[in-house]
Amino acid sequence: MTGDTHDSRGTARPARTSPAHALLAALLAPIGAAWALRRAAAYRKSARPLAPAERAALAPCFPASLLDSARVAEVRRINDPAGLALLRRVAGPGVLDLSLVAGLALPGVVVIATDHAPEWSPDAPTPSPSHLALLFHECVHLAQWRALGAVGFARAYVRGFLAAGRSYRDNPLEAQAFDLTARFTRGERPDVWTHIAAYRSVRTRRPCA
Ligand SMILES: [Zn+2]
Repeated sequence: MTGDTHDSRGTARPARTSPAHALLAALLAPIGAAWALRRAAAYRKSARPLAPAERAALAPCFPASLLDSARVAEVRRINDPAGLALLRRVAGPGVLDLSLVAGLALPGVVVIATDHAPEWSPDAPTPSPSHLALLFHECVHLAQWRALGAVGFARAYVRGFLAAGRSYRDNPLEAQAFDLTARFTRGERPDVWTHIAAYRSVRTRRPCA
């Protein structure tokens, strides 16, 4: 399944889905998008811009406007919404428990759970490699949110999850984030926006640099 939905260079392709999966994704997408936008607005109130060292590390890979507008919220743990707990019972463990994750990307906002991101040290003059890898992964999702729009991202995420056999890692949007992050940690500097724009169903303009 993984080989069908993305390649090893970080260019995700839309998931092939059955009509039933497409219908389920279309039904759930507005609910997921509304939740994400609501939570993003709440997190933005206590969020900060990227630190200069973080921004400098990410700058070769992301459009400047995306990094300028990105905000980072730090919390001890992310709340797992009741709706996801219900979905987990129906769809299985591939639906992540958000209270256990280290990071989450919502439209325009990266949320970091300090309980699960122990090397998180925003005041350090040089961010740790693991911190930058987490931030890079979440910023790929910020770019996906921007490219696809809130409802488009939510729909693609649900479709990808279902097409990947309810797998978190093989969801094309996650696979793309993991692939690009692996390249970044190897010292490559992939152009994230180019990879996201190559996602076949995306018709989007490059944001102003
Ligand atoms: Zn991810």
